[in-house]
Amino acid sequence: MAMVFDAPDFDNHELVLFGRDADTGLSAIIAVHSTALGPACGGCRMWPYASEGEAVRDVLRLSRGMSYKNAMAGLPLGGGKSVIIGDSRKDKSEALFRAFGQVIDSLGGRYIAAEDVGITVADVMAMGKSTKHVAGLSKGHDASGDPSPFTAYGVYLGIKAAFAHKFGNDSLKGVRVAVQGLGNVGSHLCQRLADDGAVLLVSDIHADNVKRAMDRFGAIAVDPAAIHAAEADIFAPCALGAVLDERTVPQLKAKVVAGGANNQLATDDIGELVRQAGILYAPDYVINGGGIINVSAEVTQAYDRDSVLRQVERIPHTLTDIFRRADREGRPTSAIADQMARERLSAARQTRLAAE
Ligand code: NAD
Repeated sequence: MAMVFDAPDFDNHELVLFGRDADTGLSAIIAVHSTALGPACGGCRMWPYASEGEAVRDVLRLSRGMSYKNAMAGLPLGGGKSVIIGDSRKDKSEALFRAFGQVIDSLGGRYIAAEDVGITVADVMAMGKSTKHVAGLSKGHDASGDPSPFTAYGVYLGIKAAFAHKFGNDSLKGVRVAVQGLGNVGSHLCQRLADDGAVLLVSDIHADNVKRAMDRFGAIAVDPAAIHAAEADIFAPCALGAVLDERTVPQLKAKVVAGGANNQLATDDIGELVRQAGILYAPDYVINGGGIINVSAEVTQAYDRDSVLRQVERIPHTLTDIFRRADREGRPTSAIADQMARERLSAARQTRLAAE
């Protein structure tokens, strides 16, 4: 257990649960960072982690990110996340997801799971056969469906806000955008960017996804190892985390980084490196909040698509406030967002304590 409590990313998590089911081959971890604002809600990721330590680190970072994301989106939800260790193209079965549903259920509603990398609406529906603590469903009362179009919409609006802050106008016509990752979020984002006349440079580790983007959007394929350094105005990470680090930041040509991926900064101090390089970074958990805003409407049982869209449309305003404050204070945008999120969490904890 020392691996968890001593992990730099542990950051006072309320709970970390390891779940195993020998019959289905399930190995999963659920992390609940904070329930100060409400039940912890965050996606489940399925990924073939190279080691258990890597999976623990990922789930802890993602879970804290959800606390910050939900706080910044003004949602009545806490932060949590889960990972299933496995290859989403090979290791899925209905029984595996049902077994994972039982692990979620054992927390009695303290954690609510939805979709993330490698997990589809159908997978969440399968988990839902063993627990009611899932969201992002395709059927049922207040079902909100796939969150990724809403995530992509918020990212698109956030890209425009970041571009406008950096360059003084928000037209993306002819603007070169490098999109890393062409999954649920990346592909919906490409559609919106292409509709606005942006030039797309794209990469994915799966060739079929790249081919589809080339056919549909006239996108230019870039080697996955070089996409961050592409000759682009905007870099939009939409794959996995830790894409910005001491090696990659000096190689960036783009002056704006704004994308849907969680945990884009390998470590918190990379935010300052990005600032010093004159690059405007849209904090990931603020720009990619559209999906959880949609899921939240299902959790709170008041699903209304128009009201969800109105909430998503606040994302660019929140980002612009962060950009301006970062300029005024000469600090990284990531540090400003972290501070704002922590203040909101701390206020919620105080209110809860006072009510007890
Ligand atoms: P996804 O699994 O549908 O897509 C991820 C894509 O990235 C896949 O096509 C994968 O092949 C590709 N990829 C992986 N490693 C890569 C690499 N090194 N280079 C290029 N491509 C690579 O997942 P998604 O739902 O689109 O999520 C993408 C990111 O957005 C994740 O970080 C996720 O946590 C975050 N996010 C998603 C949502 C949502 O609504 N789905 C919401 C908030 C944040």
